[in-house]
Amino acid sequence: SQHPTIAAIGELLVEFVSHSKNCGLRRIGDYSGPYPSGAPAIFLDQVARMGGKTEMIGGVGKDGFGDTVIARLTADGVGTGGVTRAGAHSTGVAFVSYYETGARDFIFHLNNTAADQFHVPDTLLDLANTHLHISAASLGNHALRHMIMTTMRQVDTQGGWISCDPNARPELMRDTAVREALEEVMQRSRYLLPSTSDLGFLFPDLSEEAAIDRLLSAKPEVIALKRGAKGATVVGFGERHDFAAHTVPEIDPTGAGDCFGGTFIALVTQGASLRIAGEKANAAGALAVTKRGPMEGNSNPDDIDTFLRDQGRGDFT
Ligand code: ATP
Ligand code: MG
Repeated sequence: SQHPTIAAIGELLVEFVSHSKNCGLRRIGDYSGPYPSGAPAIFLDQVARMGGKTEMIGGVGKDGFGDTVIARLTADGVGTGGVTRAGAHSTGVAFVSYYETGARDFIFHLNNTAADQFHVPDTLLDLANTHLHISAASLGNHALRHMIMTTMRQVDTQGGWISCDPNARPELMRDTAVREALEEVMQRSRYLLPSTSDLGFLFPDLSEEAAIDRLLSAKPEVIALKRGAKGATVVGFGERHDFAAHTVPEIDPTGAGDCFGGTFIALVTQGASLRIAGEKANAAGALAVTKRGPMEGNSNPDDIDTFLRDQGRGDFT
């Protein structure tokens, strides 16, 4: 049968990255950008680079920032038929700056920009053959949350599939509407792609093992757990695979989680085993942190296979 179309709804934006550490976005400094960004876009760009059929639903303005986002998605093969170009609103923008500790500060300009002022097209998706990926950070925005939840319920009801990166930041979890939306998304998801920190926020009283068991006792069949510079673990269908991190120079870790997720979901959707999908996602995540800019470190299958061979893991390619 035909592989499902992988779709995402959420924020499209451009990001500017500070070159100096510890500036906290307060001091004058050098930035580079505009880098195409937005978690759902980073994810889908990587799915497309892995050969998946994709549809992005979101909005950008009729401005240079919007042009650069559309140009990148189009060049990488992401479907942009669901991207609204709003004349009345500017493209969303984010700024990021790192500290020596690895912590980072973000400033997002999303509310009432083109990033949250768009319409979901009625007929773009064949719902029964759609895999909808939800980056739960988007649920913190009221307009995005409404569009995501409506579409997710349609996809689920019509027999499509859902995956979710919980991104359970504490400030989001304090908002009851956001927390309830996240719980519904997780209950409808087949694949969950949490970070270790998400498990701590979702289940503060449970060990990692117990948290994974709790998630798998409901609908989700596969948990891909992201451990940053400590690698990843994939659990599901009675299997468990632990992947040690690759040693790479970390230039800019933002986007690694979405790149990992895009690689993983593209491959399992194409029928890859959990072991192969996890190994390649772990490699793609490592490659992602070596480039400045949130989706500049995304990679093609050949890049991943070459990297794995260089790392002595040619048996996975
Ligand atoms: P984000 O910070 O964008 O929210 P995340 O927390 O969802 O990302 P991470 O765990 O930071 O995701 O990264 C995803 C995957 O990328 C990791 O599971 C690992 O496979 C790989 N990865 C991330 N950072 C590194 C690193 N410094 N060295 C090697 N691999 C890494
Ligand atoms: Mg991280």
